[in-house]
Amino acid sequence: MLILLDQDGVLADFERGFRDAWNLRYADQMPALGPADRKSFHLREDYPARLYDAVRSIYEAPGFYRNLLPMPGALEGARGLLEEGHDVRICTSPLTFWRHCVPEKYEWVERHLGADFLQRLIVTKDKTLVRGHVLVDDKPRIDGAEMPLWRHVIFDAPYNANAAGPRMTWRTWRETMVRVENQMSAKSHMDTRPRISVPSDRSADEGR
Ligand SMILES: [Mg+2]
Repeated sequence: MLILLDQDGVLADFERGFRDAWNLRYADQMPALGPADRKSFHLREDYPARLYDAVRSIYEAPGFYRNLLPMPGALEGARGLLEEGHDVRICTSPLTFWRHCVPEKYEWVERHLGADFLQRLIVTKDKTLVRGHVLVDDKPRIDGAEMPLWRHVIFDAPYNANAAGPRMTWRTWRETMVRVENQMSAKSHMDTRPRISVPSDRSADEGR
């Protein structure tokens, strides 16, 4: 299958990075919310409105995205999917305040998954326009301009516990992918073999 992996909350531990940075800077305002208190995908909906600027200042700061730790098991899982024969791409939506976020997402992938993986990074504001068989994403609902071709596999997080659909963690990715692939091929006779090869360094370069 062609599997799209979201970056934050699936590969990179955004929640932990946020908590740690918050407690360093704003512990006097309130302690960072723990996983059990995270009800909404959007941090701004869980923190008091008066602290919204403080919330934004954490993830808009230089170094925030670069320094996120990998989610436990994520790097092994991403490589494992490739080893199982899947085509794996990272599909990530940057902040509109892109200045640090966008370059640091590239830095993160290079640092943790290697320079070769940069060929697999898709940065887009609208994931519904990206083709694939599966999108693994912690966001409970993904909207955009098109009906997506991919099936959304929810990556388990406290703030998406009520979302319906197949879900996985980096402990269960293998079983989940087998099940989803079987369901898809039974339903639609969809050809789930990856066909698209990753562009080589040269062909993907815009420059000549
Ligand atoms: Mg995410």
